[in-house]
Amino acid sequence: MPLRLDDPITQVPLVGTAKSILLENLGINTVKDLLFHIPSRYKDTSSIITIDQLKIEREGTIVGTLESIKNIYTRSRKVLTRATISDGTGRIEAVWFNQRYLAKSLNPNEQYLFEGKLNPKQTRPQLVSPTYEKYYQGVVNQKHVGRITPFYPETANISSKWLRARLDDVFKNLEDTILDPIPQDILKEKQLPTINEAINLVHNPQEVEDVNIGRGRLEFDELLRVALQIESEVHQQTGKQANIIPVDFDTVYEFISQLPYSLTDDQVMAIRDIIKDINSTNPMRRLLNGDVGSGKTVVAAAVMYGVFKSGLTSLLMAPTSILARQHFKTISNMLEPLGVKVQLRTSSEQIENSKDPQVIIGTHALLFEKELPDNIALVVVDEQHRFGVNQRKELLEKDTNSLIPHYLSMTATPIPRTLTNILFGDMSVSFINQLPLNRLPIKTHYVPKAKRDSCYTWVKERIIETNYKEQAFIIFPLVDESEKLEAKSAKKEFETLTSTVFKEIKAALLHGQMKEKEKDEILKDFKEGKYSILIATPVVEVGIDIPNATMMIIENAERFGLAQLHQFRGRVGRNSLQSYCYLLAGDSVDEENGVERLMYFSQHNSGFDVAEYDLQTRGPGEVFGVKQSGIPKFKVATITNIKLLLQCREVAKELIKQGYNVDKILDNLFR
Ligand code: ADP
Ligand code: MG
Repeated sequence: MPLRLDDPITQVPLVGTAKSILLENLGINTVKDLLFHIPSRYKDTSSIITIDQLKIEREGTIVGTLESIKNIYTRSRKVLTRATISDGTGRIEAVWFNQRYLAKSLNPNEQYLFEGKLNPKQTRPQLVSPTYEKYYQGVVNQKHVGRITPFYPETANISSKWLRARLDDVFKNLEDTILDPIPQDILKEKQLPTINEAINLVHNPQEVEDVNIGRGRLEFDELLRVALQIESEVHQQTGKQANIIPVDFDTVYEFISQLPYSLTDDQVMAIRDIIKDINSTNPMRRLLNGDVGSGKTVVAAAVMYGVFKSGLTSLLMAPTSILARQHFKTISNMLEPLGVKVQLRTSSEQIENSKDPQVIIGTHALLFEKELPDNIALVVVDEQHRFGVNQRKELLEKDTNSLIPHYLSMTATPIPRTLTNILFGDMSVSFINQLPLNRLPIKTHYVPKAKRDSCYTWVKERIIETNYKEQAFIIFPLVDESEKLEAKSAKKEFETLTSTVFKEIKAALLHGQMKEKEKDEILKDFKEGKYSILIATPVVEVGIDIPNATMMIIENAERFGLAQLHQFRGRVGRNSLQSYCYLLAGDSVDEENGVERLMYFSQHNSGFDVAEYDLQTRGPGEVFGVKQSGIPKFKVATITNIKLLLQCREVAKELIKQGYNVDKILDNLFR
């Protein structure tokens, strides 16, 4: 039956409902999705040797005639299938375990390819569980053995072998060709194959070079997607104008000079950078790239004070309402004494301080609000990554003729310099590399299982020793107990800990399933010292500021990316006290990836270093959190392929200039 790209995957022969549910786990719903399911590796079994050679090399691919095959039932009811294979040069035995159907599906006297290794324990040559396929005379026709065999991301009951056979059906019956979103002339100039050719090459390579050519095109598509997003933002803003905010450093210094601490040089530099930018009709696009705890909020507050002095309004947006409320508290504490009206707007609550605000604080939902003052000159987005801020469009597109605000983004993860130059090439970046002077480096330790109890006892004693002044966070990956994941759950551990080691200590539980109000209440009480310990799920991750918290225990630390661990660690060490971070690992942590990563983390205090390490070892998804950031999870490309990304940005610029429909291209690019 002819197949079309948009057909549901169940149209493919031998894909029923049961299989389609499994395929959904791999993100495969349509025929096209299957074609875009790209091999993760290949095994070249195309060079064929004789049985004699195999006996010497002990590994390889042979073509032989099946002389006999039979099942042997062992005492433990297991099935051993034993076959004899011969070619002109000799004879060899092959065995398989628990594949009784083989004895029926392989026919004596027919020719097959077999690929595998000899049993190292047997002196008599014996192939163990070789892969096999009928010999079709000529490599071109082989699907599984005797070729460059693709292996795919698999899931339970969906094997690479099965996927190969389905793909073979698709290639034979497909009527459509995949629409190529990239114009011919660009493909030619970049010496890239069409998307159809590329897809064909990665699934059915005849030689190793085919794989490279095919993957090269797919990588190009993936990075072009990023490039198009960047360049269309740039394009959107060209020609747009912003309010000049005529503020000078002396004015802002009125604010700075009355702070209870002095700013770091980097903070001052950042403020100067921003002031310079907003003194222009050219809309500012600046990223404030600072480590966790480096004091980005006060930088924003200083600038917002300047905006206020110019008679204009600022907007500050945070990712959650907890954070919005926290900002409201800190910022109104800082600015209201100086006469600034600060307003909080969150979707869940009514507006606090509703008359003629000069600083408005809320979540990203603010962007969709209709009743915003029309003199908003500065928008600050906290704890964001550029790929999450597409919403900014809303604000920019509101009224095409009017002025657009200056824009400042503050990162949730310190971004290594190598990446900012590329991904944020269109934005100016201010780095805050220094932490405030009063900080002591946080002491981070990996705690082996045997020391877990003493770790908890130590925390308890320290709380008592400091007369309940210093506080501790304990982070667990899950809310509820789950049989599947052995990760410790916050709820259950809360019960256990508060009835044992922390019996005499006030502790609270915080998790994502609680209502906003409840969470907020608990955090407020924790900040005020009503509890000494907060047992929480990763909801505390970003931005929360509890100065007296000096101890952080992270359970199942191996489950988190290092950038995320760094966010947790950043919840302590926020004043002049010595702070500690303890990493506890689950039973299944493996030495190589788990412990090594955690050891690296415990020896490095800079978020920039940690992010870079994560980027190199686990990819951008881990560093930036694919979901929040919207950074595509690449199947083929690496985001560190800076050279290619730069090329793609040139192409993207050209496509936009020539008036191509960017959304349509994005819809059709390989992903
Ligand atoms: P982040 O950059 O992670 O958003 P915050 O803005 O929340 O960090 O600042 C962390 C803490 O450091 C806050 O309690 C803030 O009051 C304090 N802080 C900021 N700048 C300084 C400074 N220059 N000296 C001392 N403390 C500072
Ligand atoms: Mg912050």
